[in-house]
Amino acid sequence: MVTVNKNYLKLQGSYLFSTVAKKVAAYQEANPETRIIRLGIGDVTQPLAPAIITSLHNAVDEMAHAETFRGYAPDLGYDFLRNAIAKNDYQDRGCRITADEIFVSDGAKSDSGNIQEIFGLDNKVAVCDPVYPVYVDTNVMAGRTGEYNHTRENFDDVIYMPCTEENGFLPELPEETPDLIYLCFPNNPSGAAITKDRLQEWVDYANKTGAVIIYDAAYEAYIREENVPHSIYECEGATECAIELRSFSKNAGFTGVRLGFTVVPKELERDGVKLHTLWARRHGTKFNGAPYIVQRAGEAVYSPEGKAQLTEQINYYMRNAKVIYEGLKNAGYSVSGGVNAPYIWLKTPDQMTSWEFFDYLLDKAHVVGTPGSGFGAHGEGFFRLTAFGTYENTVEAIERITKM
Ligand SMILES: *Cc1c(COP(=O)(O)O)cnc(C)c1O
Repeated sequence: MVTVNKNYLKLQGSYLFSTVAKKVAAYQEANPETRIIRLGIGDVTQPLAPAIITSLHNAVDEMAHAETFRGYAPDLGYDFLRNAIAKNDYQDRGCRITADEIFVSDGAKSDSGNIQEIFGLDNKVAVCDPVYPVYVDTNVMAGRTGEYNHTRENFDDVIYMPCTEENGFLPELPEETPDLIYLCFPNNPSGAAITKDRLQEWVDYANKTGAVIIYDAAYEAYIREENVPHSIYECEGATECAIELRSFSKNAGFTGVRLGFTVVPKELERDGVKLHTLWARRHGTKFNGAPYIVQRAGEAVYSPEGKAQLTEQINYYMRNAKVIYEGLKNAGYSVSGGVNAPYIWLKTPDQMTSWEFFDYLLDKAHVVGTPGSGFGAHGEGFFRLTAFGTYENTVEAIERITKM
């Protein structure tokens, strides 16, 4: 008799974005004249930069001729891309990462979900609360989290590290020692960034306890401040305890194109085994490579033209972030994030719950955001606005909110 993976039955419904969509649709139907502005989107909106489009076109043309046609890509990625990544993202920042430590993939969501496979089921996982849901749900599926606790609204065997107003939305070293620590900086959803000194404490802690840090740096390109590290490998000793995940989605608009990579340093060993070997085996067995065309597009991200165009694109979003942050702050809201990230995290006024504020904002300002409680129990009482809209809409949304 067939049985199913019962761990899947422990997953909690991800009602967040579907509930948001339903509420917005109902409101629009009841108020057909109202122009709703959406600042809830976690997706980029600017088109691909010209340098990337040119590279895509060229690669497509190569596929049309037998002499330049490419079939299966190398398992771990084409050298032209891995070399560009190693040089630009790591070596130029003083990180000792080489091209053969880089695994090209179809994005950071898959990698952040798949990476847990190379670890034993008895490992204890620590995550921030609030958190990007993929880290927890994929560990639930694997059977590493225990049962769901309806009172605490989280899983019994996961270590949750609250990120609150009191600690500046940065996790503190947990009391119980974890094996796997998921960190994401700059953070989605809170927009918080971590300084190099603070991240070094985590690296030291992992090296002392033997834990492994899975570091999601998907928003690295939004970093503005000098003391905020772009990679965990800027910290001393990180190649002995950390895996880094990167994506082309938020820095270059590849959310629909799909490209990312994972760095597993060769020095990183646990349980007598190089994690690099395990991830290479997993990647080679279960993944047949990101498309050639897309890897060429990724290469263009590192060209001089590509870099200049993408800086402009990020600046566009960060101008929106500033409009949101300063507008709300001047209106008396308690706001954070938005300086090194495209997310602004605000405290709901008057003790409103996240969902009460959602309804209030939709009704009074016709603006859509994302309730913080959807990202974890400690997100309750907070609300996420994103900088991915157009400048005009962002300005209007903030005008409407401040007039409420
Ligand atoms: C958007 C995002 C990613 C990137 O996902 P892709 O699959 O590369 O599009 C990864 N981590 C976080 C926290 C994100 O918000």
